[in-house]
Amino acid sequence: MGLFLISFVNIKMTLDLNDCTCPICLDVLIKPISTPCRHELCLACFQSMKEDVSKFECPMCRTPCGAWATRVKSNGELAVDKVRWLNIKRVFAEEIRNKLEGKSSQIVIDAMEAYKKNLVSNSTNQKSASNLAQPGELRKEYLELIREEEENIRLQRQNEEKESLELIKRLLVSFNNF
Ligand SMILES: [Zn+2]
Ligand SMILES: [Zn+2]
Repeated sequence: MGLFLISFVNIKMTLDLNDCTCPICLDVLIKPISTPCRHELCLACFQSMKEDVSKFECPMCRTPCGAWATRVKSNGELAVDKVRWLNIKRVFAEEIRNKLEGKSSQIVIDAMEAYKKNLVSNSTNQKSASNLAQPGELRKEYLELIREEEENIRLQRQNEEKESLELIKRLLVSFNNF
């Protein structure tokens, strides 16, 4: 009984790669920083953005975060969410190694595939290459895809939480009957 509960807690402690992905590089977060709107990106990805920091908008939800971005710009490494980074390193050591070695993780490959399919079906509908998106629009569409994916994951998690609650309820009942 005790052992079972411990392993249950351990399951809840693992992270989902989809929740640890940067909206800029579409890969596992490295040295994550978190925006006031509770989105995350890699410190290096943030630093590589050429936009004026005072006009910075969250790449996920477009919330203006100028004051936050100015602070991150001057704090650098200090802005990294250290606990979060430690957990990501613990769970996704392999993904991080792949990323640093320049290999794409599965989530990037999936996003690229889905995007390409989308692009092909759009261009066959429109029959015109000049209608293909500009790089800025490409990123917007990627973000759209990720948002859809997030919604799916959210629904899935809701179901999982419901199942977990039911499991806990059953455990408590069997514990009381013990
Ligand atoms: Zn990144
Ligand atoms: Zn946001």
